Amino acid sequence: MDCVLCRIANGEIVARRVYEDEYCIGILDTSPCAPGHCLVVPKVHVDKFYDLSDDEIAKLFRAVKTVALMIRKAYAPDHVCMFARGGRVSHLHVALFPSNEGDGVSGFPQSNYPEQSVDLEASAILLRGAGTGG
Ligand SMILES: [Zn+2]
Repeated sequence: MDCVLCRIANGEIVARRVYEDEYCIGILDTSPCAPGHCLVVPKVHVDKFYDLSDDEIAKLFRAVKTVALMIRKAYAPDHVCMFARGGRVSHLHVALFPSNEGDGVSGFPQSNYPEQSVDLEASAILLRGAGTGG
């Protein structure tokens, strides 16, 4: 498999690492939306965060918190945003970036979508019916 994040995790491709533990790495995004934009990446190839075991997700999000606090200390933004979609690269990566009031993510995600008319009660019933694990 030719996965750029696997290749970064195993050292084949050099990235600017700002954090590392036994389970994941924190690197600077090479196309940052703001100074300090980082990615926290499991060293093993996994696609979606909800495919992780409880133990793995705990490890990942402890690292996410650590890197978020590093961003907060270094850049003193109003907020540190977290985003984990995994569309462009199928290897799970949690994006963290500093955000300030009035910037491009202030109204996100609603600002990126046309106004929706959603039956909230029907949505709640549907989701409750889908509950309790995989
Ligand atoms: Zn990978």
